[in-house]
Amino acid sequence: MVTVASGRYAETLHADWGQTFGEIRPLHAETTPFQKLEVFSSPRFGTVLALDGVIQATEADEFIYHEMMVHPPLVAHGAAKRVLIVGGGDGGCLREVLKHPVDAVTLVEIDAAVIAASQRFLPGLSAGAFDDPRARVVVGDGLAFVAETEERFDAILVDSTDPEGPGEVLFTEAFYADCARALNSGGVLATQCGVPFLQPAGVTASFRRLRSAFADVAFTVCAVPTYVGGLMTLGWASADSAPRRRTIEDLRAVARGLSTRYYSPEVHLAAFVLPGYIQELLIP
Ligand code: SAM
Repeated sequence: MVTVASGRYAETLHADWGQTFGEIRPLHAETTPFQKLEVFSSPRFGTVLALDGVIQATEADEFIYHEMMVHPPLVAHGAAKRVLIVGGGDGGCLREVLKHPVDAVTLVEIDAAVIAASQRFLPGLSAGAFDDPRARVVVGDGLAFVAETEERFDAILVDSTDPEGPGEVLFTEAFYADCARALNSGGVLATQCGVPFLQPAGVTASFRRLRSAFADVAFTVCAVPTYVGGLMTLGWASADSAPRRRTIEDLRAVARGLSTRYYSPEVHLAAFVLPGYIQELLIP
């Protein structure tokens, strides 16, 4: 479990290594039906959300992850109108999706307490997105939602916790098969896929499981300071490689006017270039 002692917060994602935040001020803690939820403030990172001792988002660096989770699939698609976010209860992905001219975005979050605590303590993450008329929030299990929905989406963004606890089911072949069925032609799935230097098996497993449901599977990388261990991978899957092979001109045309601090069409293309130590994890 997490320890908050003498003004410090120690992340417990890895038993033998991790990050510690100093000079913190605890703001909120509760045990929800799904996980331990903690919020604290840090002089360096602003307000921080942690679930089961794992850092989920900080005010200072959340833009990196949320921009790279959302804009590559939506800019590559080029005309996404219906988007599904699975997880993402902090509202950061929802905020970024609504920067695009979508008709509707559905967010399926299993834990209502995450939405409530994020809106109360980290309002800048959603920045009013939960009140956008295009947004629909469903409190429920993303696995069941995708299995049962008759709706079709142009992009499905799986912004889940790691594959322990409630998030585990969102890293399965069955879930990916249902996602493939729920995507429109030309649709793209993007998934949170951990930090390969510390969680290499997760990347290999996701690569194999995504390939069981999609013909085109790849990964992008980005560096999020508080997702410790170096580059983070985001899974990418589609029925064909067309969305992944957009030209820089295509991307620039779609991304024109998009307000971002990390994403750009150039970063988009570069994010697919994997260093050898990650590429070698993509074992069929
Ligand atoms: N950006 C973070 C990361 O990369 O680890 C994820 C942040 S977001 C807060 C993760 C959310 O996934 C949590 O709010 C959690 O409740 C939600 N979640 C976990 N399992 C889920 C499931 N089966 N269905 C829907 N939401 C789920």
